Amino acid sequence: MIIPKAERLHSEELKEIEDIAKEFECSILEIHGRNRCVYAILGDENHAVMFKRIAGLSYIRKVDMIESSYKLMDRRSGLSDHIVRMGETEVGKDAPFIIGGPCTIDPSNPELYVETAHALKEAGVDALRGGVWKPRTNPYSYQGDENALDIILRAREETGLPIDVEVMDADQLKLALEAKVDVLQVGTRNALNYSLLKQIGRESAETNSAVLLKRGRHMASINEFISAAEYLVAEGNPDILLCPRGTTPPLDGYRNHPDESITPLLKNRTWAPVIVDPSHSVGHADYVLACSLAAIAYGADGLCIESHIDPRRGIGDDPKQAITPEKMKELIQACRSAFPSRYKAI
Ligand code: PEP
Ligand code: MN
Repeated sequence: MIIPKAERLHSEELKEIEDIAKEFECSILEIHGRNRCVYAILGDENHAVMFKRIAGLSYIRKVDMIESSYKLMDRRSGLSDHIVRMGETEVGKDAPFIIGGPCTIDPSNPELYVETAHALKEAGVDALRGGVWKPRTNPYSYQGDENALDIILRAREETGLPIDVEVMDADQLKLALEAKVDVLQVGTRNALNYSLLKQIGRESAETNSAVLLKRGRHMASINEFISAAEYLVAEGNPDILLCPRGTTPPLDGYRNHPDESITPLLKNRTWAPVIVDPSHSVGHADYVLACSLAAIAYGADGLCIESHIDPRRGIGDDPKQAITPEKMKELIQACRSAFPSRYKAI
């Protein structure tokens, strides 16, 4: 990882470094942070001479040799002070960042979504979620509908809150980027789909869209989880939110095993904010509060919670998992009372 003295290398400087790297069969990748650029060395980095030559250039502040399989996500990397911003908000800095909204937007009843969005804003959430396209275990279950995108865009317009939408393929990504979706969600099923991760990282690199990456549900190891995020950053988008969302252990009938306790491990190894999803972690509205409190206790920077104004009328996971906006308000207050030090006085 190369960190220049200035915010960004001039093209002649970059060319000089690329020429050195080429001699050692390496190449250079420019990564745009919000405030400055850092440069990753791709290829076999174990060339002390190459490092010394690059480190010796007058316009270079430092060259890190991080021997980690995720050298950009690593806490010791040049991105360690990177802050993910959502509008004016620095995610997780002043208070846990709360994303809320239904599992699935019902396109046949737009008012239900829009009313939920207003009620959630009132309850104190920082961003809205809502499934437009849905990854369903059963191929005969509702699969989503493009028309739902307009509904969540309307909710963003009316509430002013950023929106989080899952994308599962290139066509959906294109529509989400055209709509300037603030958070592109990569769900647990695609969490290890490396071609999709690369494409999302590449195509969102020059946009303001962050990526919320869920952990692979079938017990993806910490290393696998962080390496999946590395794919996104290595293609140029450092605005990553890591999302533990529970796993499915190999126990018959046991689908939701919470994993918020990996938060300290993730924060120890990486610099990225951790947003825990208590809804899919526990799979039932009754346990969402306890899981949310546990997540904040473990140091999570935020929560992504399924919520619906009338869960019984919801589709997808909502009837069993969604909490009401009133419960969301209580949950936000419960987090504030239990962990006052996590809230800056405002
Ligand atoms: C969702 O957020 O509704 C969803 C399908 O999530 P996951 O990928 O974690 O199952
Ligand atoms: Mn869901």
